[in-house]
Amino acid sequence: MGGASVTANGGILVDLGETRYALDPHSHVRADYTFVSHAHIDHMHAPSKTEKVIASSVTGELAKARGYDLGRTTEEVEGVELLDSGHILGSRAIRIADEVYYTGDASGRTRAFLGKCRTRQARILVMETTYGTPEYVFPPTAKLVKEVNSVIASAYDRGNPVVLMGYPLGKAQLLSYFFSSWEPMIYHEKVATMNRIHIEHGVPLKRGTTFDPSKGLDDLPSGPWLMVSPMASGKSRVMSHLKKKYGAILVAFSGWALGQGYKFTMGADYSFPLSDHCDYQELLSLVRAVSPETVYTVHGFASEFAQDLRKLGFSARPLAPYQSSISDF
Ligand SMILES: [Zn+2]
Repeated sequence: MGGASVTANGGILVDLGETRYALDPHSHVRADYTFVSHAHIDHMHAPSKTEKVIASSVTGELAKARGYDLGRTTEEVEGVELLDSGHILGSRAIRIADEVYYTGDASGRTRAFLGKCRTRQARILVMETTYGTPEYVFPPTAKLVKEVNSVIASAYDRGNPVVLMGYPLGKAQLLSYFFSSWEPMIYHEKVATMNRIHIEHGVPLKRGTTFDPSKGLDDLPSGPWLMVSPMASGKSRVMSHLKKKYGAILVAFSGWALGQGYKFTMGADYSFPLSDHCDYQELLSLVRAVSPETVYTVHGFASEFAQDLRKLGFSARPLAPYQSSISDF
């Protein structure tokens, strides 16, 4: 059996011997196995009935709750190893023989109930490089949590409620976890749905009341409260109403908050770089841990990071046809 080859065509294709693996395809691709790394929308598709889908059972469950039926998923395939990628609940990296290691989206640090991406050596590394430039190095999580707590404390002192915003699967559960000591706790219904599945899997998230903006915006309590919500612009209908009627303070969470102007673009009062991806240094550590001959980069700063790796002596290039929107979760 020869070595694996990696190509991109509507997804990442790995051919090893007679077997073809499609990794996180955007639509149905002819392959023996399809791997779905995690339940973010930009990594999922609607598989055909005959597709053999490799994914964690939690990813199958989260996908279903988001309208993607992955069918009967399996974690047990000969020659294939799934490893926790630390990105969100159920997220996995995949190692195919000792040839290919693919990260999916990966985190480089332990946060609350999530660990960091586990690695194994492989000849070819296919990695996400969302934050693959040196200016993206995230501060320690404990420091961010402390800063956010003081923002919430001063808003409460003035009688203002606070809305914490991040993508509804992953970030929102970390926010629910880190800031659970505040009362009363209100969850946007999209967050509440994802929280419920986390609780069923043993993640200790506090229950709170549910806010469904389609049922009205005027039933929230007066006085301070803390809401966890999907990311929305401060200029959106719901957020501008919460600001105007309740004096809500908007706080946005994203790795992009390290960039100039993110807070203003989002129309938020504060923004913090709490991320579920590796920062630049963590990406470099990941490459060293896998110790590959060849690296293919996908997402975000794929060209820039590949160039930096070449300077360090690696053979590296971006899998260019496989770029997707960085904001579409
Ligand atoms: Zn993701």
